[in-house]
Amino acid sequence: MEKSFLVQAVRGMNDVLPEQIGGWQLLERVTRELFAAYGFEEMRVPLVENTALFKRAIGEFTDIVEKEMYTFTDSGGDSLTLRPEGTAGVVRAAITNGLLRGARLKLWTSGPMFRHERPQKGRYRQFHQIDVEAIGFAGPDVDAELIAMTARLWRQLGITRVKLKLNSLGTSQSRRAYREKLVAYFRQHESVLDADSRRRLEGNPLRILDSKNPEMQAVVSAAPLLTDHLDPESREHFDALCAMLAASGIDYVLDPRLVRGLDYYSRTVFEWVTDALGAQDAICSGGRYDGLINQLGGDATPAIGFAMGVERVVELISQAGMPLTQPPPDVYVITSGERAQRNTLALVEKIRDELPQVRLHVNLGGGNFKAQFRRADKSGAPLALILGDGEFERGVAALKPLRQETGQSECPLSELTARIPAILKDLAGLSHAG
Ligand code: ATP
Ligand code: MG
Repeated sequence: MEKSFLVQAVRGMNDVLPEQIGGWQLLERVTRELFAAYGFEEMRVPLVENTALFKRAIGEFTDIVEKEMYTFTDSGGDSLTLRPEGTAGVVRAAITNGLLRGARLKLWTSGPMFRHERPQKGRYRQFHQIDVEAIGFAGPDVDAELIAMTARLWRQLGITRVKLKLNSLGTSQSRRAYREKLVAYFRQHESVLDADSRRRLEGNPLRILDSKNPEMQAVVSAAPLLTDHLDPESREHFDALCAMLAASGIDYVLDPRLVRGLDYYSRTVFEWVTDALGAQDAICSGGRYDGLINQLGGDATPAIGFAMGVERVVELISQAGMPLTQPPPDVYVITSGERAQRNTLALVEKIRDELPQVRLHVNLGGGNFKAQFRRADKSGAPLALILGDGEFERGVAALKPLRQETGQSECPLSELTARIPAILKDLAGLSHAG
C-alpha cells in the first residue's frame, strides 16, 4: 500500500490537548462567574464578517488591516475576513440587532481570532481572546470598574507578576491638533524614519510612536507627548479615573507612549503587561472607543472594552501552579462474564441517575480481571465495583478499595447507590488521615 500523506496542522494554529485544557477551563470558569457578578452578559458573534467592517473599525493604516488579515472571496463573490479581534463584531451585532437605542450594554464574548503574524512563543495565527465591552457608558467610573475587574481576575487566578499601563488619547478633535504637531516633528526627522513609519506619516502618525525599531527610539522618545495636548474634558476624565484607581489600591504606571494598535481608541487606553512571559508581554489590552459606533453607522454611543490573550494568560496560570488536571474517577467498574457484560450498562446508568456527582468509569472492551485491575489502578479511582456473572446471579456486586488495604465487601445491587457515597467518604477520610 502506498504510504499515506500526513496532513500537518496550519502554521501558527495550535491544538489544545487534554493535558493543557485545565488552565483554559479554569480561566473560562472564573471569568464567566466574575463577569456575571459585575453584571456582564455573554454574547456570541460569527467568526467571519464582511471585510469592510474590519477596515472601517480597525483602520486602514494598522498592522492588522495592512498585513495580518485572513481575507478571502467566497463563492458568491463577497470579500470576507476571519475576525482578527472581537470588538468590531460585537459593535456590528449591537447595531444590526437594534440593541443600542440609548441602552447601556455590558457584554462579553470569547473565541478564536486570526492574524497572519510571524508565529513565535505567545504569538500565533489562530489565538483566543476573551473580550469585554461596556457600551453606552461615558464616565470614568466604568473605565475604573473594568480595570478593577481585571485586577480581581488576576488575584483569583493567582497571577501576580502583572503591571497596569495607562494613558489617555484624548478625543479625536484634540488628537487632530496633536497629530499635526507630530507630523511636523517627524517631517523634521524624516531621514531617520523607516519605510513603515514614513508611510504612516500620512495615514496614522501616532502609530510611529509604537515603533519597535531600535534605530528610531531616540526620535520617538523626543517626540511631543499626546498627554501634553489633552483637551480639558479628557484631562478631567483621565484624572478622575486615576483617582478612583488610586483610592481602590490599584497600582498603575502612566505611559504617554501607549497608543495601541487599533485606530478606534479615544481617551482611556490601558494594557496589562507581565515580566513572566518574555517578549510577548501584553496579556490584556483595551480602551475607550467613543467614536467607533457612530463610525460604523450606529447612533453616537460612548463605549469601552478590553481583550485578554487567552494563551498568554493560561501560560501565567500554569506558572502560578494551580492544580489543573481533571480529577480521577471515584469508581472504576470491572465487569466479567457474558451476563454481567450485558447488564452492566443498565446498572451503571441507574447509579448515574441516582448519584450524578459520582464519577464512574466503566471498563470498556472487556479483558481479563488482571488487565482490568491494571486499568483500574491506573485510573486513580479509590474504589472498584466488580460485576461478575456469579455476583449477578446472586444479585450482588463486590466493592474493593484500590488504594487501601481494607478488604473487599459484597453489596446487594439494590443498595449500591446508598452504599457507594458512604464508602467513598470513608476512603477519602482514610486517605486524608494517612
Ligand atoms: P501585541 O502587542 O502582543 O501584538 P496587540 O496590541 O496586537 O498585542 P490586541 O489587538 O489589543 O493586542 O489584543 C489583545 C490581546 O490579545 C493582547 O494583549 C495579547 O494578549 C493577545 N494577542 C494579540 N495578538 C496575539 C497573537 N497573535 N497571539 C496570541 N495572543 C495575541
Ligand atoms: Mg499585535
